[in-house]
This record gives sequence, C-alpha cells and structure tokens, in this order.
Amino acid sequence: MLIVQKFGGTSVGDLERIQNVASRVSETKKAGNDVVVVVSAMSGETNKLVAYAEHFSSNPARAEMDMLLSSGERVTASLLAIALNEMGHEAISMTGRKAGIVTDSLHTKARIEEINPTAMNEALKEGKIIVVAGFQGVSTNGNVTTLGRGGSDLSAVAIAGAIKADLCEIYTDVSGIFTTDPRIEPKARKLTQISYDEMLELASLGAKVLQNRSVELAKKLNVNLVTRTSFSNEEGTLITKEENIMEKPLVSGIALDKGQARISLMGVADRPGIASEIFNKLAKSGVNIDMIVQNKAHNGETNIDFTIPSGDLNDAKLVVHSFVKDGDIKDESYNETICKVSVVGVGMKSHTGVAAKAFSAMAKENININMISTSEIKVSMVIDEKYGELAVRSLHDAYELEK
Ligand code: ASP
Ligand code: MG
Repeated sequence: MLIVQKFGGTSVGDLERIQNVASRVSETKKAGNDVVVVVSAMSGETNKLVAYAEHFSSNPARAEMDMLLSSGERVTASLLAIALNEMGHEAISMTGRKAGIVTDSLHTKARIEEINPTAMNEALKEGKIIVVAGFQGVSTNGNVTTLGRGGSDLSAVAIAGAIKADLCEIYTDVSGIFTTDPRIEPKARKLTQISYDEMLELASLGAKVLQNRSVELAKKLNVNLVTRTSFSNEEGTLITKEENIMEKPLVSGIALDKGQARISLMGVADRPGIASEIFNKLAKSGVNIDMIVQNKAHNGETNIDFTIPSGDLNDAKLVVHSFVKDGDIKDESYNETICKVSVVGVGMKSHTGVAAKAFSAMAKENININMISTSEIKVSMVIDEKYGELAVRSLHDAYELEK
C-alpha cells in the first residue's frame, strides 16, 4: 500500500516522541508499504514563532510571517529524516516547494492550487521514505506560503490525493471520532467508520481531531482518511465515502454546539425582497447564518428568527439596527443562552421516525425545543443552553449509540 502518515504537534512534541514516530514509520515501511510522512511543527513551536514576530511588530508583513512560520515544520521534517536514516532507512525530507505544493499568494492563509508530485514519485520509486514539512507551499511567484493554522492536515490530504495514496492516516493525541463527546457522555463509543458528510456535520466532535477544510478536501479528492492516536496501537476511525460503508447505522453521532446565538426580528415588513435584503447584508458583513425560521405573516408583518455563531453577533446587530432605523423591522431581540444539538446519520435517508424519536427524547426530559431544522442526514434542535448536555445524553440513549 501507499500510505500518507501525518503527525500533529503533540505527536512530535519532543525528541523522544519524534523517535517514537520514526519507529512507527519504520514499522509501516518494513511491513512492505511505501510511506510519505507529513509533519507539523513541535507543539507550541508555531505560537512561539508568532510571539517572536510580535516582539518587533504588531503588524508584521505576511510574507515574512510565512518565512518564519514555515521553519517550524522544517525542523521536525529534517529531524525525523535523520532519525529514520539512523535506523537504516533511506529517508529524505522535503519542503513544501520540493514536494511540489503550489499555492496562491495569500500569505498566511494560502490555498493550494496544484501539486506537482514528480519529486515525490521519483523518491518513492527509489524506495525512499519521504518526510514532508506540512503547512507550507510555494506561490506561483516563488515565495514561501503557509496554509493557515492547523494547515498540515490539509497538506497531508492534498498530497495523498496527488500521489493517489491508498490511505491517509492523521495521527493526534485522540484515538478517533466518537459517537459524542466522551466528557459529556462517558458511554460514548469510538466509531470504526463514518462518511465524509456525517463527519462534516459532526464538526464539533472532530474539531480537536482534524480540520473541516481537510475533510472537505478528502471528500473532493476521494482520499480515505483515518484518524488515530500516535500514543498506542489502537485502531482509529475511517472517514470515507458513503458507498464504502457497509453497515449504515441509523444515527452515527450527536453533536453539541454551544457557540450559537439566536436573533429574533419582530414586525418585519411582509413584502417580496425583504429577506433577500436582510440576509444579503448580513452575508456581506461576514455573518454566518445557520437556521432560519419565518412565521406566517399577519397584518402585513412577519417574524423571522435565525441563529448565528456567537462571534458574529456584533456584526449582525449593526445590520439589524440599520433595518430597524429604516422601519422595515419593528423590534429585535437576542438570545445568547441557546445551543444546538444535532443528530447525524446517513441511515436517516432510508428510515422514517428519526426526528420523531429526537423530539420524544426532549419531551421525556421536559426540554423545550425552540427551533428545528432537518436535512437528509441531520436533525438539529435549538434549545436552552443549560439543557445541552442533558439533551446529548438522552439522545445518545434514545438511539442506543452505546451499542
Ligand atoms: N504548525 C501549524 C500550526 O500550529 C500547522 C499545523 O500544526 O497544522 O498551526
Ligand atoms: Mg493540528
């Protein structure tokens, strides 16, 4: 097999851990696989470099930040190659440029435009282990770029896609994706597999494990992703396309999102175009809208409720105020003590009664549901924040996810 193994900051956090990573890579190679390793900087290293720059300037040139930050990953890549050589392997490290990762020129948050895997393919043909410095590329005009914080996951997935790897393993300090957050529900179970779409909907469960952007890219490039821990041999969770999942569970997981706020617009003028005006203006201000509920109009007026990430609240208020001033909205109210619980599963597509079961679980606990939204593979409910964890546990029970 051709395997990409990506090791995050904690997995390469000190020299002893880098040695452990070398042993794992060595075993993978000895088992007859071809291996491309992608590494992060040692944990804390990137933050330290950012702080160094801030010592001199509160607004350092972004191109210089990329020169600086890309060095953290190079340290780990070369050290790992040295360790592998010492173990008798032919290993070479590569910068993003050498690995052929071409990006646009948006320094500190560049997007990968293409990967030219010629150098990697040649080294693989010679039987070498390649260690790529993650998080970085080269712009079309030859400058070093970085892909945004946490970007080495993205490097790994993009490389796996470009060299058509059979598997892309993402190693962190977490052993995989769970049916829900084990700190909320100790009976949470590790999933053996999950589809890309479910993973994207369960973002809050995967947040500490891998970047959403990387899951999107894996879906696009059809890369089989595995998240697992570098601290034991425990099997992880496979994230793959739905067709590859043999036994489709009705529900795969329950996610809780506490960082939500609800905005209620009262007495909204009931005329064509008003929703478009309001939501276009919100979009222009960078406000991310999630659920929207509009009530039946009454006396030429209607009410519209919607949810947004709490961090966007101030921007949203400014927009709403402008409509209130113009008289198109009579009154506004805001609620930050809400949360969103979501039940996610591909099995919902072919089963009925999934939403009803969620509502029953809420009723049993006497939890009031404020808003509901559904998609093919998800049922989300907005409830009072203080019942969020109780809701997660009762849903986990209702769908028997511990089994
Ligand atoms: N070292 C970079 C960061 O801390 C990239 C990564 O670890 O993925 O954001
Ligand atoms: Mg990371």
